[in-house]
Amino acid sequence: MPELPEVETIARGLDSRVAGDVIESVWLGSKPEPLKSSAKEIVAALESKRIAAVRRVGKHIVFDLENGGWPTSPAKQRRAGKSARPTQPGAQWIVHLGMTGCMLVCPPEQEIEKHTHAIARLASGRELRFVDPRRFGRLSVSSGFEAPGSEPLDVELARFVSLFRGRKTPIKSALLNQKLLSGVGNIYADESLFRARVRPRRRAASLTRDELGRLYLALQEVLKEAIALGGSSISDYVDSDGEEGFFQLQHRVYGREGEPCLVCKTPVKRVVIAGRSAHYCPKCQK
Ligand SMILES: [Zn+2]
Repeated sequence: MPELPEVETIARGLDSRVAGDVIESVWLGSKPEPLKSSAKEIVAALESKRIAAVRRVGKHIVFDLENGGWPTSPAKQRRAGKSARPTQPGAQWIVHLGMTGCMLVCPPEQEIEKHTHAIARLASGRELRFVDPRRFGRLSVSSGFEAPGSEPLDVELARFVSLFRGRKTPIKSALLNQKLLSGVGNIYADESLFRARVRPRRRAASLTRDELGRLYLALQEVLKEAIALGGSSISDYVDSDGEEGFFQLQHRVYGREGEPCLVCKTPVKRVVIAGRSAHYCPKCQK
């Protein structure tokens, strides 16, 4: 499952490739799962729009669209004139990659992979394809899209501290709660708790201000490091599969059960909290 740094990297890669291009037409596959908005809504929102920018919001990729495209044929012009709702300048195409989704920027002659659910044909002659074998990814259109939680890289310390006030859930679960923070997944929750020297099972409300301050810095640090690594490894194939060495941030605890802690050599422990694995050093983390 791509986490915030991977989605950030993918969004930046897409922005550098397709911002400024115009979506001429859209093809959508017949599988219903990937379409969170109706096919009709997606086509209406995307066709003949210029991609102003691509950015990450939480774990979503957001294409900011603007008018300024031009219909490619008189027939399309007539259709657009008849059926189009008034085009709002703030329309957005929202892509959630789910477990296995990826966005591909490629020439039209490139073979269409199995599990391709959407193709946007661009005025530059390239295609933007959404491929997702397991179909947990979602495509939708919106305007004024916002993630439900705070953005971990922008949130202020005071706000961050207040998110956990009075919460009886383990701090690990609170970090994963997308209504509190958007985009933090299992890997970076474990890694930031290790760096902050806080055990994942601690009740969120029990963390001192000092510990929350450390966690705040650790989370930003680990996310920024991962983004910096990811940003340098992106290729023409805009991939989403972070697990396969998309970037190589060395995990200090995540996935290292039984291996020695990199600080004190105590074996790393794995516990299950609310159905998710949590990894920590029983000596370094209190
Ligand atoms: Zn340790």
